[in-house]
Parts: sequence; structure tokens; C-alpha cells
Amino acid sequence: MPRQAATAQAITPRIGLDRRTLLFTGGAALAVGLCSCPVFAQAPAAGPHMLPSLPYAASALEPHISGQIMELHHTKHHQAYVTKLNQALADHGQLQSLSLPELLVEFPKLPETVRKAVRDNGGGHANHSMFWSIMGPNGGGAPKGAVARAIDEAYGSFDSFKKSFNETGAKQFGSGWVFVTVNVKGRLSIAPRPNQDTPIMDGEHVLMGNDVWEHAYYLQYQNRRDEYLQAWWNVVDWQAVNDRYARIRKAERII
Ligand code: MN
Repeated sequence: MPRQAATAQAITPRIGLDRRTLLFTGGAALAVGLCSCPVFAQAPAAGPHMLPSLPYAASALEPHISGQIMELHHTKHHQAYVTKLNQALADHGQLQSLSLPELLVEFPKLPETVRKAVRDNGGGHANHSMFWSIMGPNGGGAPKGAVARAIDEAYGSFDSFKKSFNETGAKQFGSGWVFVTVNVKGRLSIAPRPNQDTPIMDGEHVLMGNDVWEHAYYLQYQNRRDEYLQAWWNVVDWQAVNDRYARIRKAERII
């Protein structure tokens, strides 16, 4: 990508203007600086990474997760990770061509100047993209297929897997995630991580995970994280989890 194009893309999300406005106003747009005017609040982030659409309505997971939580979580929190990741990569042209899983797998080799931003915002982008994709309005119930067998093999039963996952999520001190990872033999492990860290950075494959940051549940469950962890199983889309498991078993690198 030519240097100038990369710069224009980088500027766009920072000042919240679309490409046409930027081109039309030229240098004057730069003078706007960090504008938080509501009129620009919904402008899409330009750059190599984009916010994925929710595959269902924000209210589709009610009553287990409120539409208000989903709307804010997706359009504000996740969008902020995408925007900040694009900003961080703006000065690292060679990294802009990497896919998100490639960027995270390469994490240990990244220049020191960009590592924290990739860890926090690349991790945040990957974690939330995974999160939306494994939930759905037709979720819940018992796991099926190969994932059900893998759960039984590693944890004895779905109930003991769920108990262990929920306890791990409840114990995570402060903000973080509880993930399930898959090793080369297809075996599952429950893996907590702080902040927006992802097991992908450690070379592992993420099957599924739950967000235990307060922003994921506080508006509805307040301090009752354990209640949120219990309710969350009602929206887990086991078909989507099985699809991920099949792709991981084929050694596909997914987020
Ligand atoms: Mn979150």
C-alpha cells in the first residue's frame, strides 16, 4: 500500500470522518483533531481491521444478555479495540497486511513499540469477534457432536466441564476472559486470561470463551458475575462451536 494511502486510512478512524469528507475537506480535516462530536460518532473505522457485524439483533440474546449490554459492548467497546488497533498499526506498514490471527501468532516477534497495543487491542478485537460468533438466539442446551465427545473425554461430563469453566470465570481477578483451548490432539483445556490477552498469542487455538469484564454483565447482573456465568450457557450456539472445532482440527488458524 502506498505510504500516503496508509496515512489517510490511519487518520480516518482517529478523527471520525469518512473517506469522502476527508478528501473533500483536505488538510482542513486535520484541524478538527480529536473531535468527539456526536455527528461523527457512528463513522466507520477505516484501516486494515474492521468491526464485524453482529450476526443477530442486539436484543436477540434476551433475557440472558440485555440488548443494551450487547449494543454498547459491540458498537462501543469492540469498536474501540478495532480503532485503536488500526491507529497502532498506522506507523507499522508491514504489519497492516497481516490477518488478525497472523498478527497475534507473530506477537512475540513484533517490535516493542507496537506490542502492547496489539496485545490489548488486537486481543480485544479477536476475543470479541469470537465471542459474538459462538452465541445466538437458538443457543443453549447440551453440546452436540465432536465437541460433546471432546468435553466428555477431558472433563467427564458437560456438568463438570461447565462447573469448572464457571468457577474459573468467577475466580478471574479483575477483568479478563475464560477460554477453552484445543491442543494438537483435539483435547480441551479451560484457560483463563487477564485483560484482553488471548491464548492465540501463546500459539494456542481458542474454541470458545466468555468475557468476564464488568462491561459484559454489570448493567444487568451488577456484581453477580456467577449469575451471568450460569445464564451465559443459554446463549451458547453449539453448532458454531462445533464448526470452530472442525476448523481447528484441520489446523486452520482462526480467531
Ligand atoms: Mn468485552
